[in-house]
Amino acid sequence: MSKTLQAIRGMNDILPAQTPAWRYLEGTFAELLDSYGYSEIRLPIVEYTELFARGIGEGTDVVDKEMYTFLDRNEESLTLRPEGTAGCVRAVLEHGLSGGGQVQKLWYMGPMFRYEKPQKGRYRQFHQIGVEVFNQPGPDIDAELIILTARLWKQLGMADAVTLQLNSLGSSEDRARYRDALVEYLKARFEQLDEDSQRRLTTNPLRILDSKNAQTQALLADAPTLADYLDDESRAHFEGLKARLDAVGIAYEINPKLVRGLDYYGRTVFEWVTDKLGAQGTVCAGGRYDGLVAQFGGKPTPGVGFAMGVERLVLLLETLGLVPAELSRAPHAYICAFGEAAELAALQLSERLRDTLPGLRVLVNAGAGSFKSQFKKADKSGAHFALILGEDELAQRVVGVKPLRDDSEQQSIGWDALAGHLAASLQLRA
Ligand code: ATP
Ligand code: MG
Repeated sequence: MSKTLQAIRGMNDILPAQTPAWRYLEGTFAELLDSYGYSEIRLPIVEYTELFARGIGEGTDVVDKEMYTFLDRNEESLTLRPEGTAGCVRAVLEHGLSGGGQVQKLWYMGPMFRYEKPQKGRYRQFHQIGVEVFNQPGPDIDAELIILTARLWKQLGMADAVTLQLNSLGSSEDRARYRDALVEYLKARFEQLDEDSQRRLTTNPLRILDSKNAQTQALLADAPTLADYLDDESRAHFEGLKARLDAVGIAYEINPKLVRGLDYYGRTVFEWVTDKLGAQGTVCAGGRYDGLVAQFGGKPTPGVGFAMGVERLVLLLETLGLVPAELSRAPHAYICAFGEAAELAALQLSERLRDTLPGLRVLVNAGAGSFKSQFKKADKSGAHFALILGEDELAQRVVGVKPLRDDSEQQSIGWDALAGHLAASLQLRA
């Protein structure tokens, strides 16, 4: 017997019961971004491996351990995108969208792929909603990104469940000087470091700062801090951001150990974190990457962005009971037709209803069945009304409208009046 085929570990089906929450989140976000003047960009899922190796950086977990890389039929190395920023920068450059210093405010959503250990909130195919802004060097836009995410939490009703963490990574020179100081400090304590951190000391020392190892964290308590290495401009940028957040009343926590896992960040980095999802608590993360465009061969172009994890946000919506009940896609009406002639009339009637009431969700029962079995199906569908078409109704050109969700009486409505009747009772717009 052949083995039943299963989905790949860490790559989830999003089942009909879950898609309403997804559409709610995606729709709320898209409307919000519209209101701030951002435009959507849609990007390929597969890119040349080199894009990520160069952009995200060798020595990062994503590039070293997590990428889905394979050879195309012509032997070129391709990779399923592990994140969206690198591809977005590539597209902006390729199509000259940031030329002449023009401001671009972009957003995208879609699947990302990382070979990680699957667990709650961490998958191998997951989804991000991301935003990237080009040619805006000041802290005002860093603030705007944070402000608009704060508005999203408010609209979703989860503002109390998330907190904002902020840090500044300074310029690349600041980071280089700090890296030297940190390496010197940790080298003297090499034996006390956990294995991962020992390895990172040569590959990516800043990442040691967010080690989960308690002994390593204890060592770091007295280590030099990045804040002491910031130059005046980075310091002013950070102060500018904080002043703007203060002005609109967005609370934040400065986390000097927040470094982010991708190499391209400088100056502002931030994360929105929740304590409601266990270990996978970061629902949105981002920062500034002023060096990335030039690194890809473009003119130096300021960039800043963030990405949020859709699965984690959906989990949070569900955990907090915030998925609105009216998201149910249950039909408004379910037509029960008895007899061949009635079945044809039902088809005509349902299409006429769809013409007049584009928002109406109407199902037509296909196939014969007793009264009892058809009503059972109508009820099970969750419909508000059963619309009954039998021989008598056909002869009189009426429909029996039977409310299924309350005890009110069945009514007989003429075919021409049906759309108006449904629109009024269901509060639909014609
Ligand atoms: P983490 O520290 O949780 O691994 P990260 O720093 O790797 O996150 P980013 O690359 O900044 O994450 O991605 C932005 C957001 O995308 C994360 O904050 C998280 O919400 C989500 N995310 C990242 N990796 C995964 C994954 N494997 N499964 C589900 N969501 C993810
Ligand atoms: Mg990660």
